Amino acid sequence: MYKNIVEFVKDLYPSKEFIPLHAPVFQGNEKKYLNDCIDSTFVSSVGEYVNKFEKMMCDYTKAKYAVATTNGTSALHTALMIVGVEPGTEVLSQALTFVATANAISYVGATPIFIDSAVNNLGMCPESLEEFLNANAQIIGEQAFNKISKKRISACVPMHVFGNPVDINSIQKICKKFKIPLVEDAAESLGSYYHNEHTGLKGDVGILSFNGNKVVTCGGGGMIITNNEQLAKKAKHITTTAKQPHKWEFYHDEVGYNYRLPNINAAMACAQMEQLEGFIINKRQTADAYRKFFSNGNIKFVDESKDCQSNFWLNAVEVESKEARDELLEYTNKNGVMTRPIWRLMTELPAFAHSLKMPMKNAEKYVNTIVNLPSSVRLPK
Ligand SMILES: *Cc1c(COP(=O)(O)O)cnc(C)c1O
Repeated sequence: MYKNIVEFVKDLYPSKEFIPLHAPVFQGNEKKYLNDCIDSTFVSSVGEYVNKFEKMMCDYTKAKYAVATTNGTSALHTALMIVGVEPGTEVLSQALTFVATANAISYVGATPIFIDSAVNNLGMCPESLEEFLNANAQIIGEQAFNKISKKRISACVPMHVFGNPVDINSIQKICKKFKIPLVEDAAESLGSYYHNEHTGLKGDVGILSFNGNKVVTCGGGGMIITNNEQLAKKAKHITTTAKQPHKWEFYHDEVGYNYRLPNINAAMACAQMEQLEGFIINKRQTADAYRKFFSNGNIKFVDESKDCQSNFWLNAVEVESKEARDELLEYTNKNGVMTRPIWRLMTELPAFAHSLKMPMKNAEKYVNTIVNLPSSVRLPK
């Protein structure tokens, strides 16, 4: 079986010696736009490409506002600050995520509360979230508090794992009921839709990442998307050193951050955005091929959720045990096909081991049985 998998993947990506998990494709205007930056001397955080990139993101996602940042982690940090997460508060998130989600919560001086994964996708489980809140939350005034720790529950941050949307409608309803701001970590889900709406827009704010291995990359970069004008203004302000606009005065009205995306990164991003639609079609075709290949046998293709459209950033399969997973990882990596397990649970990491958490029935299963397969955009043979 493992031999068949290796042969199948080598047929999908025929020209590669070693098939990486996710390699970027630069076949558009990347070099041309980068040259423009150098020729114009606008290489840093002021420049036409930064504005253009934000405009392209609004057009693509249908977000009203977009604010470009240095990376996805700084976008998350900013998103938490603008929805009012403060030191000493608690933030709901999921145990099965990339560490950046939990790190950003710590940057603000808040502590994470980890929720289990859903049965039908790898993201936050709405039932586990609701169970935690029903047992622990109390609304005082217009805010939610943890009855036991007495701390304010200042936000909820679900993440769309590998591009497959979480059940954001249910999560949004629960957050609304408990008056908790919702921040969507959509770092992996550019081009993914929940009920025909782009991910990242159901909550108060969403964030995207353009790191080297993401669907669209510009070396490093991030974006805050929102339909809320006040939040967008706040995001722009604190990511650009909180400087009040003036021809020459340096007046900064609060602690600000140097989180603005440089023009050279934005230039690459614009070139990538021009190719995005093609990337998504291509990636969905790759997912179709994997789905068909794994349609019978003990290895289960991790498919998109009902009424959702995934960008299939990374394709994933679920195997029956940890032993089977390790065998698959061992065999494929030895034979030129890069595969990876899913992340470790946040609750296993030293920085977050003492955090509050729900029972982790689903997450504990996934953590030992999920394997990612090569998922780069495929070039014509
Ligand atoms: C990539 C990623 C981030 C962080 O993005 P960077 O641009 O690398 O800082 C945050 N959250 C998730 C889930 C990610 O996959």
